[in-house]
Amino acid sequence: YEKVDKAETGKDELAEIGRTFNGMMEALETNYRKQEQFVSNASHELKTPLTVIESYAKLLLRRGFTNEQVATEALGAIVNESRRMNDLIIQMLELAKNKEDTSLSLKEIDLSLLLESTASQMRQAYNRTVELHGGSSLFIQSDEQKLKQLLFILLDNARKYSEDKIIITAAKEEKSITVSIHDFGEGIAQDQIPHLFDRFYRVNQDRNRKTGGAGLGLAIARELSEKLQIHINVQSKLGSGTCFTLLIPYNLEGGKEGGR
Ligand code: ADP
Repeated sequence: YEKVDKAETGKDELAEIGRTFNGMMEALETNYRKQEQFVSNASHELKTPLTVIESYAKLLLRRGFTNEQVATEALGAIVNESRRMNDLIIQMLELAKNKEDTSLSLKEIDLSLLLESTASQMRQAYNRTVELHGGSSLFIQSDEQKLKQLLFILLDNARKYSEDKIIITAAKEEKSITVSIHDFGEGIAQDQIPHLFDRFYRVNQDRNRKTGGAGLGLAIARELSEKLQIHINVQSKLGSGTCFTLLIPYNLEGGKEGGR
């Protein structure tokens, strides 16, 4: 760095430089702590399935050759846990990629078609009722792939944390199109809502073991929504269901290059 020349620099200027420097150091430190936390969480999340795989592999070695039932159970568990690890690694790479990739591929999209295709994917893959209400020809300027990914994360959560139908509603407002994804599932307590978008945050660790999530889906959704300048609201009631509402701008601020 360039040494500050006291003779040429006034007291106020020096104080200002000092403040800026301190601010930068604080930001670096916070960032470093966040990275450390991420590595620690990620290691823990990867270690858990690996421990299960190791113990089932040992069981397989001990009793699998003489007992077909034991072999089937052990191999099934090994396949499941390997899948979990794979999903987790894909999500972690996704987060890393999103941080670095600031580019947007903007084009005109008919949001109603995008919603229909995402809903239909969900119906086919999981045999779930997904209702879609709202107008046709909802044209916006956005990044189709990133927007689809964001919608998919929210729809997939609605599927995982509820059993009944899922309702998607789209409506034109003055500055944006409002899209809400409503499920009638277990809901989320009010005090948990502010943490939902944090990395590795899960409302209930044990309960979510069944669904296999690591708490990264909404962290990815937050990064995507920041890029797409989409505001997300969450409303939920324990035992009744959850509604994620997206305010999607007609046009991204900042022109073709996008980004804030
Ligand atoms: P996960 O992979 O665990 O689903 P997410 O980051 O996508 O992680 O979500 C974080 C947590 O928020 C979930 O573990 C779940 O507890 C809660 N959650 C998210 N969406 C819903 C929903 N639609 N209904 C109830 N809980 C939800």
